[in-house]
Amino acid sequence: MPISKSRQSPFDTRNERGGDRLLQIEAVYDKVPVGLCYLNRNGVFVTVNDQLSRMLGVASEIAVGRSVEDIVPDHAHLLRDCLQAALVGAQIPDQEIRRGEETFMVSSASVTNDLGEIAGISVAYTDISNVKSIAHKLQEIEQRTTYALESAGQWIWDLNIATMRVWRSPQYRILLGLDPNGAESASVAWDIVHPDDKERAIEAFEDAVSGRTPHFEAVYRVPRGKGGHAWILSRGKIVEYGPDGAPLRLLATSVDISMQKHIEEQLSTTVQLRLELEQKLLEANRKLKNQSERDHLTNLPNRRKFNHLLKREFARATENADLLAILMIDIDHFKAYNDFYGHLAGDKCLVHVGRALNKVIKQNDGSVARFGGEEFAALISGVTTEQAATIATQMLNAVAAMQMEHRGSSTGQISVSIGIAVFDDENRDTIGGPDDILNRADSALYQSKRDGRGRLSIWGNSAR
Ligand code: GH3
Ligand code: MG
Ligand code: MG
Repeated sequence: MPISKSRQSPFDTRNERGGDRLLQIEAVYDKVPVGLCYLNRNGVFVTVNDQLSRMLGVASEIAVGRSVEDIVPDHAHLLRDCLQAALVGAQIPDQEIRRGEETFMVSSASVTNDLGEIAGISVAYTDISNVKSIAHKLQEIEQRTTYALESAGQWIWDLNIATMRVWRSPQYRILLGLDPNGAESASVAWDIVHPDDKERAIEAFEDAVSGRTPHFEAVYRVPRGKGGHAWILSRGKIVEYGPDGAPLRLLATSVDISMQKHIEEQLSTTVQLRLELEQKLLEANRKLKNQSERDHLTNLPNRRKFNHLLKREFARATENADLLAILMIDIDHFKAYNDFYGHLAGDKCLVHVGRALNKVIKQNDGSVARFGGEEFAALISGVTTEQAATIATQMLNAVAAMQMEHRGSSTGQISVSIGIAVFDDENRDTIGGPDDILNRADSALYQSKRDGRGRLSIWGNSAR
């Protein structure tokens, strides 16, 4: 064999068992799963092993002694380039060639003769079709994953639990508007998490690592490229455990949920506003109701309110067989008062009388209302006729105590007349409803007027 290299050639026969050794080496040369050949400096095949014969589909006897252009016209130029590089002492790069369905990696090395001159090149062909197909499949998987993540607005991160260092897929930078070529400054798990959310995120992580929760799930903020923060939702699970069962890797996805958060906040503001509005409306309604049940001049309950109270108390007294006293109170000679002192003074007088009556009624757990004009009505539950008469006397005295001048009255002072009717066991069967008892108090009032005013009368006694 005319092959010689700078080191002792394996084909060298100069050692003592050279013959045997040569045969062994030739056997190996033919059996290795790599295509091998030797080209002389003229680009002529000197040796071709069996594997290369198969790869090229050319018998070794045919190839040997023929030029690369004759045997492998499709990539002869490539072998020539390798030869040329070897002759000028340049680096010979590996080359990839495709032949039909197969892909080969072609590596060559220069071979020198005993004089140290370049004699040719040895060339190795490695079948990398399988590697290429795996690489292609991997690339397809990556393309699909990338598309799925990008269209779902998500990125993947992979956390090494021992080092707490994290790898994030490129979508992280794309989706958050970060510089895609920026240095991975925050490759430690929680570095990018907003300080206010860190504790929550770490807690969720520790729950997943300890197995308290089957998955990791946390919502937190991370910085955006253009400033500010994005709300993100991360979900993940432990995908790898050590031989001792300790978790090694957490694989997770994150998605930007800022928009949902924004809508949630707006909704909560709207709900809050609605609640406040409802509260204001209720308050306004309450005021309106209060106003509709009050007399504007005296600020006492009006006739409407009194009728409600009377209805309620009458029902209660009926049900509980309780007592209920009604007092009708009318200012004496009030028309004349207006005539003497004017309408405005008349209004003031009404306010003062109302106050005096209210003071007495409050001390007796009852209610007094302006019933209309210069007439008032009072209601006291659970009192006897005698007790009602005592309260009415207190009212007469309270009005008298004001010592309000009234030149139109024979007494020279403002006075009131009172009529009393009490719903009790004696009349329980004869009184049909609240109006009946009111009418009786009114009749008693007119009895007081007839009897000379400034006094009280009780229905059933003198009044009928
Ligand atoms: P009597 O002693 O019989 O009750 O005589 P009176 O003059 O009080 O009774 P009358 O029913 O004849 O007159 C009631 C007067 O009350 C007539 C009306 O001008 C006056 N009056 C009614 N409401 C008001 C009011 O809101 N303000 C003023 N200033 N006067 C009123
Ligand atoms: Mg009157
Ligand atoms: Mg009157």
